[in-house]
Amino acid sequence: MIHTQVDINLTRRSTMGPLDSLDWLSRFTEETPGDPQSDGPSRQVPNACWSKATPFKAPNPTLALWSAELAAQLNLLKGQPEVLAGGVLVDGMVPYAQRYGGHQFGNWAGQLGDGRAITLGEVRTSKGAQELQLKGAGHTPYSRFADGKAVLRSSVREFLCSEAMHHLGVPTTRALSLCTTGESVMRDVLYNGNKELEQGAVVCRVAQSFIRFGSFQIHTSTGDEATLRALVDHTIKHHFPDHSVDSDDGVVAWASEVAETTALMIAHWMRVGFVHGVMNTDNMSIHGLTIDYGPYGWLEDYNPGWTPNTTDASHRRYRYGQQPQIGAWNLARWLESLIPLMQEPRRLEGVLDHYGEVFNQHHNAMWAAKLGLGLWRDEDQDLVVQLNSALQIIETDMTIFFRTLASIEAPNVSLLSDAFYQPIGEAEAPLQAWLVAWWGRVDGTPDRATMMASNPKYVLRNWMAQLAIDEAEKGDFTLCEDLHSLLMNPYDEQPEQEERWFQRRPEWARNRVGCSMLSCSS
Ligand code: AMP
Ligand code: MG
Repeated sequence: MIHTQVDINLTRRSTMGPLDSLDWLSRFTEETPGDPQSDGPSRQVPNACWSKATPFKAPNPTLALWSAELAAQLNLLKGQPEVLAGGVLVDGMVPYAQRYGGHQFGNWAGQLGDGRAITLGEVRTSKGAQELQLKGAGHTPYSRFADGKAVLRSSVREFLCSEAMHHLGVPTTRALSLCTTGESVMRDVLYNGNKELEQGAVVCRVAQSFIRFGSFQIHTSTGDEATLRALVDHTIKHHFPDHSVDSDDGVVAWASEVAETTALMIAHWMRVGFVHGVMNTDNMSIHGLTIDYGPYGWLEDYNPGWTPNTTDASHRRYRYGQQPQIGAWNLARWLESLIPLMQEPRRLEGVLDHYGEVFNQHHNAMWAAKLGLGLWRDEDQDLVVQLNSALQIIETDMTIFFRTLASIEAPNVSLLSDAFYQPIGEAEAPLQAWLVAWWGRVDGTPDRATMMASNPKYVLRNWMAQLAIDEAEKGDFTLCEDLHSLLMNPYDEQPEQEERWFQRRPEWARNRVGCSMLSCSS
């Protein structure tokens, strides 16, 4: 008989392996109603949440960009472009395109769905299940008149920006890989009749799920309560397990959580100067993740009226300063889609009020952090209002202004001169007055550490992405990789990078397509 104290480790060994070594799940297709037909032409697919769809086989799939950090979380070894571009399926994958609807630019658009996205499946990870989805892997029943492909330009933009957002601390879907396909795709970048062949690409993106507000809306809009309930039950079971939707109280509690994560996401967008560009309800994640990177942009000149999306140029519905209101509008449309679950639908109105309150709390906390104020006080509102109007008198670079503010040793506007695109002129007096008021508020000792952690030094400025795209289109991904690594530490000083990337927008980028002008063309 021996008496020893021996520990036995029963956790499964998690060595890195190829895609077929991952623990694949297909909960969505098992638990929600699907289309009886697989693939096939673009069409309406009533009473379904998905259609099986086969990714196309690219002629020459090549791995161009890779997120090693995300791959490590998935226990995935680098490689397998033939799978990550869609042409080869491994055991466990059940590829499908999701059906959803949405309000586009304020109008109900009916069925939309994954027209250029195909989910491969979910994989179990130590941080919960993650869905892997290919963007640009070819036609699905939801592709309408388009081809389901994506071009290199928009794929680089999605890869770099979603990874940059993650490292900025903004809730977002992520990108695992970018493969070029070796195929040319015809596109009209500005929808003005100038078509050109562009290189095709496929991004593999990753999120807890790609369920959107519009995923629910489509069923309510067609009076299909059974499918709505199946989708809600699936969503609650796996993604909101602390909730139950058996009562009005339960639905309101769940919806309130969705309102909270949505408010938090948008407060983060405002903090870092991100403009989504297409906040249609089909582009609103149920998890409050930034999703569907299309004609997004980053504020350089601090102009709340700015949108990068040329498709929205006349109304500027999705301009920077209006994003919080649009979040509420979108949430209202989603709440309407929950009416069939409610005995007393009026109770959903409280969720909208809650969104407003939560957004304001986050927004105030964000300003307190950006300005190093410590705890927010009600009278700080005046300080924020004055700053917002002063910053609009002349073109002022948002990123440089706030980052520099965190380090100045005296309330002197000349210390911020790098942030201005023009001679300071008439902005000098109001900005100087604001600086003195701010300095007084913080007793000359702003909370600099919090400011540094809230005001990034490096963001994916529109012209930076465009420079990387120009090189990538020539087959050189070095700049993409450099930016990917720069933006993994956006709050760090990285002095060796300053001269190149901590810079105001260069003049050449002011009116260049891809920098100041973007469309939904992808
Ligand atoms: P978005 O504005 O990018 O969110 O797209 C709106 C809708 O158009 C979604 O249903 C997309 O799947 C679809 N879509 C956009 N581009 C393409 C494309 N190249 N091929 C097929 N469908 C597309
Ligand atoms: Mg979309």
